[in-house]
Amino acid sequence: MRNPKPAGAVPLYEKSKSVFPKAVDGKFRRLKWGWMAVTLSIYYLTPWIRWDRGPYAPDQAVLIDLAHRRFYMFGIEIWPHEFYFVAGLLIMAGIGLFLVTSAVGRAWCGYSCPQTVWTDLFQHIDRLVDGDRNAQMRLQKSPWNAEKIGKRLLKWSIYLVISFCTGGAWILYFADAPTLMREFWSGEAAPIAYTAAAALTATTFVLGGFMREQVCVYMCPWPRIQTAMLDEKSLTVTYKDWRGEPRGSVKQARNASTPLGDCIDCNQCVAVCPTGIDIREGPQVGCITCALCIDACDSVMNQLGRAPRLIDYATLQGCEHEKAGGAKESVAKTIMRPRMLIYFGVWCTIGLGLLFALGVRQHIDISAAKDRNPPYMLLSDGSIRNAFTIKLRNMESRPREMEIGLAGVPTAVMWSDDMPRSQADRTLRRTVPADQASALRIYVTAPPGTQAQDFAFTVRALDAEGGSDAHQTHFDVPGDAQ
Ligand code: SF4
Ligand code: SF4
Repeated sequence: MRNPKPAGAVPLYEKSKSVFPKAVDGKFRRLKWGWMAVTLSIYYLTPWIRWDRGPYAPDQAVLIDLAHRRFYMFGIEIWPHEFYFVAGLLIMAGIGLFLVTSAVGRAWCGYSCPQTVWTDLFQHIDRLVDGDRNAQMRLQKSPWNAEKIGKRLLKWSIYLVISFCTGGAWILYFADAPTLMREFWSGEAAPIAYTAAAALTATTFVLGGFMREQVCVYMCPWPRIQTAMLDEKSLTVTYKDWRGEPRGSVKQARNASTPLGDCIDCNQCVAVCPTGIDIREGPQVGCITCALCIDACDSVMNQLGRAPRLIDYATLQGCEHEKAGGAKESVAKTIMRPRMLIYFGVWCTIGLGLLFALGVRQHIDISAAKDRNPPYMLLSDGSIRNAFTIKLRNMESRPREMEIGLAGVPTAVMWSDDMPRSQADRTLRRTVPADQASALRIYVTAPPGTQAQDFAFTVRALDAEGGSDAHQTHFDVPGDAQ
């Protein structure tokens, strides 16, 4: 026997409702169009920007060169041993998100998040093919006739083309764009290129075309994190209930015994919402702060000859102040607060630190890995030999001659496995090819009786630009191996 469902029980799973956002015009909608054009242009066009780095380095402005383990970004070239620059940029991006959230709430979600941008684009395709909200709702309910099948096929084909361009553009960040494009269409690209493009195409098609607001509401952790970061001084899109309530249509207002609020319950704010929520019910995790409901409501207020911004960007504190009869807070005052200044200060400090580190970094580098087994060898003449693998990095886009030296163990000399021991000396010269790292086996030999001690390998560039680096290591002797 089935248990009867208790009255008022809330189901654990709510079936998703289709959202058909109505077209709207207004200040924020135009801002969104402009910003969408900027973000999509950056994404699709960046791999095609060229940047001359000389004959030995790629000329793509932004390139994640996994094969050679380099990251190029205009004039900056990051090597694997400089990963702290990437870590610094990621930290800056994180703090930047905190900064934006503190200043203008979920503006990232509403304007710049890829999920929002592509969903917005796909919703525009829906309107182009199916018509505006009412036509889309009618088509959704209609049986699968020739018109519906034709429109669905056309719409999904456009989705697919956009998704493929998106997945295709992504792989261009990982190889020379014109070359990869040619190889891709001639079937000569690496299998991973086809796999990555297919995966990105599929995710864009599904997430932007069908899952849309469900990604924001159910899948993305950022709304939950942001909720914890918002306080009574954070800007959010807010319905001014003290001004709008009690709501009622113009006709109801005419017949009411007591005056009604400014909200005429026209539902335009709900109809334009890309996530399908009613902002009049208060702040919700589904609100991405896109402000399209502000445009819709302003248009209604304008037609009625009432003051705009019944729905507005406002802080909870500002609303309480306005509700009590105070003036509206200025945006500058809302944004300029201690928390914001602290985030901004930390963000700038990290940014300046990275710029300073970039400015003073050496373009040559040496690292030494000591043989651990055995830590030393006794040669036939009684001298002690320690072996090392040296890595010399030339981060310039031209070959450079470098001099390796020993700083410490004054009686020691060294030689490498590409020369006879008879030529051992305190310094060695090698030319390192442009934009490359060269590995070298080095043997350091000291006479019998030498004590164990620390020393350093040094390197200096022998050209006009110069530059030097050093790597501390240790000289082991019998009875004192570390
Ligand atoms: S658009 Fe404005 S007037 Fe219309 S229901 Fe929404 S809040 Fe009320
Ligand atoms: S409630 Fe308004 S601001 Fe929030 S997502 Fe909907 S339209 Fe955008």
